[in-house]
Amino acid sequence: MEKKNLDWSALSFSYQPTDYRFVAHYRNGAWDEGGLVTDATCTMSESAGVLQYAQTCFEGLKAYTTKDGKIVCFRPDLNAKRLQDSAERLLIPPVPTELFLKAVDEVVKANAAWVPPYGTGATLYIRPFVFGNGPVIGVAPAPEYEFRVFVTPVGPYFKGGIKPLRLLLSQYDRAAPHGTGHIKAGLNYAMSLYPGYVAKLQGYSENMYLDAATRTKVEETGGANFVFVTDDNMIVTPKSDTILPSITRRSLLYVAEHYLGLKVVERVVKYDELRNFKECGLCGTAAVISPVGEIDTPDGTIRFKSGMEKMGEVCAKLRETLTGIQSGEIEAPEGWIRVICED
Ligand SMILES: *Cc1c(COP(=O)(O)O)cnc(C)c1O
Repeated sequence: MEKKNLDWSALSFSYQPTDYRFVAHYRNGAWDEGGLVTDATCTMSESAGVLQYAQTCFEGLKAYTTKDGKIVCFRPDLNAKRLQDSAERLLIPPVPTELFLKAVDEVVKANAAWVPPYGTGATLYIRPFVFGNGPVIGVAPAPEYEFRVFVTPVGPYFKGGIKPLRLLLSQYDRAAPHGTGHIKAGLNYAMSLYPGYVAKLQGYSENMYLDAATRTKVEETGGANFVFVTDDNMIVTPKSDTILPSITRRSLLYVAEHYLGLKVVERVVKYDELRNFKECGLCGTAAVISPVGEIDTPDGTIRFKSGMEKMGEVCAKLRETLTGIQSGEIEAPEGWIRVICED
């Protein structure tokens, strides 16, 4: 198969339409079997549930070319499950796991020419999403839904090396207690745009959000979970019902414990203990793990011991191991890698 003529290592994290996408519909109480299409546009009622009341949720995962030339993706069964959890909270009919996995397999295979080659640092980003496309006007769940998966090649998240980030302690809240912080809903992102804009205007990469009820506990950023490293190399990650359960974070914790022999604990992390940590990382599919050097707060700047020059040692080791597993250089735990094409 002939690859597209792209400058793979110069790609950025932006949308580029590829040749095929997968589309399935929910009508009369059931999902159809769906299939590949070439049209990159969606057509729907002006009164669609997604347009009027934001009835939509999504996923994000990646396909990789391994060292031996296979195209694989990473733990897609967990994305399928999480999309179902998100859908249930929004009264969207959940997409069955088999349909989800079939869609990912078919769309990646059909766009194999767009999957970045091994060693370029680039990957194929996969975006599954589901939305109410049937008409509503009174506030109610839509009568019909569309499930779609498209792919787009993306470059290495960090161009020219990994530099520690500066964050802002946000004066806004991300998720209410008993709200929707734990699901991957478009609405959580719509309301984070303004705080994100404010932070970027002041030169920060991201916002750190605290729990909305007491503003004493660390939650996450707009799109990534936190991991912290203590002086004696223990990994600490915030426990909360209002953060999104990151698959990268769950995988990194497993890697820390079973590959690196580190102690791992998921517990409440108080805002006023942040200064005690040696390293801080943000984890998500796009960035894997990105180092945080500083967090600006109304009580002064929190500076992690790893500093603003380079990634801390423990975060670097975690990153290296997980990316090694994803690209087939390090043996993966049972069930983590789904082979989509052998060659
Ligand atoms: C998607 C997302 C993450 C990262 O999850 P991964 O499964 O690791 O990609 C973290 N926080 C939020 C709010 C997210 O939407």
